[in-house]
Amino acid sequence: MSLKEIGEFGLIDRIKTIVDRVDDSVVAGIGDDAAVLKSPTGALTLISTDTLIEGVHFDLSYFTYFQVGWRAAAANLSDIAAMGGKPKYLLVSIGLPRTVQPSSVEELFRGAGELCRNHNTIIIGGDTTLSPDRLFISMTILGQVDENHLALRSGAKPGDGLFLTGRPGSAKAGFKILSCQKKMHLKDKYSSVVSRHLLPLPRVPEAQFLVAFFSIHAMIDVSDGVASEVHHICKQSNVGAKISLEKLPQPEDVVAVAALFKDEPNEYVLSGGEDFELLFTTDIDEGEKLSVELRSRFGLECSLIGEIVSVGEGVRIIDPQGKGFQLKQSGWNHFKQDAS
Ligand code: ADP
Ligand code: MG
Repeated sequence: MSLKEIGEFGLIDRIKTIVDRVDDSVVAGIGDDAAVLKSPTGALTLISTDTLIEGVHFDLSYFTYFQVGWRAAAANLSDIAAMGGKPKYLLVSIGLPRTVQPSSVEELFRGAGELCRNHNTIIIGGDTTLSPDRLFISMTILGQVDENHLALRSGAKPGDGLFLTGRPGSAKAGFKILSCQKKMHLKDKYSSVVSRHLLPLPRVPEAQFLVAFFSIHAMIDVSDGVASEVHHICKQSNVGAKISLEKLPQPEDVVAVAALFKDEPNEYVLSGGEDFELLFTTDIDEGEKLSVELRSRFGLECSLIGEIVSVGEGVRIIDPQGKGFQLKQSGWNHFKQDAS
């Protein structure tokens, strides 16, 4: 079977069957946003890694090196946020083509360093190698979490509300503008979505607030697309989900950019990845309370987009007439597509 047929997640499942060996110190291994390790004293450490490759995750014709560094750090910080944890330390490995200027590498570290400082995270090491043609950056992040604040993907229960922060689809809309020669001149007009692609904001303090004051059953960050992340929660929790199309947020700029490209805006909202928003489940009244707090403390919108149902009902997206909505593409899955 080819990589295209099996896809990124099918491949990870196969890797898991080969390497899945855990002991008492591994609270969560492959299958969540970060692995959770328990020390002999009982303290929990979070660890996760994310890689960015030129031409796959970023394009240097419109990304600065500062933004590449920031963007890579954001993906890593976001995975710790999604576990309810505090990011602490970051290792940064880079593969550099011979043509890269040292000053560009400094800019990359200024970008990563600024976002890390914003979230009290310290860059403590890494590795530097030659790369034959493309730039790549691979980061490993360590974080900490209190046992009673840990938010796994596996805690969703039938009856939970499915909640989503922010303006999903923004990073995808920004990417569409930046990657289209004919629309590039509109990047200032649509700067709000363009900046979500270039300088995304991981929801670190917001996630810590959620787990500290509310009972979050399951949580994941949106790095591959909302629809795909709902599937991950459902798989890990052994439940189904019903997403209501009419409850999805409809960010103004996302709708406007989708119209420019004659695309369906819900496709951006549901399958656009890399927004680094939080998707979580909790009791509906708890979710309503915390939505008020997120708006007043952080200026962050939070939408109830659906509910968790029993596993037998599967994962469905329902339109206002009660009919199933079929996504063209359910989210970013390496190998299954040629371009996002
Ligand atoms: P995220 O989008 O949150 O970064 P991924 O979709 O990349 O998560 O990965 C899902 C899970 O699969 C994670 O637990 C990750 O550690 C694991 N995983 C991904 N690739 C590999 C690999 N090559 N070997 C072992 N585990 C992997
Ligand atoms: Mg994640």
